[in-house]
Amino acid sequence: MHDRFGPVHIDGRQGEGGGQIVRSSLSLAALLGRPLRVDHIRAKRKKDGLLRQHLTAVKAVAAVCEGRVEGAGLRSTALTLVPGKPRGGTYHFAVGTAGSAVLVCQTVLPVLLAADGPSTVVFEGGTHNPMAPPFGFLERVYLPALAEMGVAATVRFERAGFFPAGGGRFVLEVEPGLPHLPFERVEKEGEAEFEAWAMSANLPGAIGTRELAVVRQAFGIGRDRAHLRRLDSPGPGNAVAIEIRCGGAVERVTAFGAKRLPAEDVAADAVEQARAWVDSACPVGEHLADQLILPLAFAGGSFRCGVWSSHSETHVQVVRAFLGEAALKVSHGADGTVVSAPGQPR
Ligand code: ATP
Repeated sequence: MHDRFGPVHIDGRQGEGGGQIVRSSLSLAALLGRPLRVDHIRAKRKKDGLLRQHLTAVKAVAAVCEGRVEGAGLRSTALTLVPGKPRGGTYHFAVGTAGSAVLVCQTVLPVLLAADGPSTVVFEGGTHNPMAPPFGFLERVYLPALAEMGVAATVRFERAGFFPAGGGRFVLEVEPGLPHLPFERVEKEGEAEFEAWAMSANLPGAIGTRELAVVRQAFGIGRDRAHLRRLDSPGPGNAVAIEIRCGGAVERVTAFGAKRLPAEDVAADAVEQARAWVDSACPVGEHLADQLILPLAFAGGSFRCGVWSSHSETHVQVVRAFLGEAALKVSHGADGTVVSAPGQPR
């Protein structure tokens, strides 16, 4: 019989061996009120242990659940958390580098959903990171999927944070209430509709214009659906995002500018990513799949994705360590991977 209440011990070396294991363990321990120990943190990364982004997430979770934490230091490879009760309120969490503030937000959000009242949280750090959900993905793909599960959370963008300067800022408003409405995203139907953004900060405007030209031509996007955005940010940065809607499914891909990389190549990268999603018969992309695993375990329902990463597989194992083997079912088939969940008793 699965122990639903006792302490949980997570081996950070398992599967992917990266930061997600720590973040999801923290979210689950705090929202379920279960003591947590994580060893071998990020053991499969070149620079192991807690980096700024992970450390900010540890401290943020401890703060919102009034928990006692040990091992909350930079490069720490083991930590324990004894959570208290999640409290709604006003919080401010700053990564202090260009590390992803969006990942910190995704870590504390589940805890705030189990809180005793609403919260307003300011996050500072990276908002446009290549290896994390960009702010636009959080706002327009991840949170709308959670809204379908009954989650009441919105974000307001204030300033962009690109690597290496960071300094981005956004505000999360959240009402308590765990995901509870069954989520269904198994079929992908209908015509694809496209919208594009070229975003730059402290760089010549021509970059965005050139990027939009490539993206518009690739998908026949009208002027009214192609947006040139100058972002307020402490440093330079450039990104191209393409959003695709197909029936109830939505995906948003992002490509990032870099020194000496022609604007046309950045746009071509985004176009290629968008094509991969359009050509796939599955409604959920690789990253969204990974991020839906935890909320789906609570809400119940199912989704189908084309790419099943070791990151997603590891995430499933972490959730099962808290909620039991039956909390998530994963079936691989010729037409993708279906993840389904019975949902958690409320
Ligand atoms: P490390 O692996 O070095 O510990 P980390 O802590 O930054 O890194 P990961 O464990 O790799 O984090 O998790 C990164 C998260 O970012 C995953 O949930 C992944 O789905 C998400 N992600 C990465 N790229 C994108 C993208 N382009 N769009 C949306 N989400 C993304």
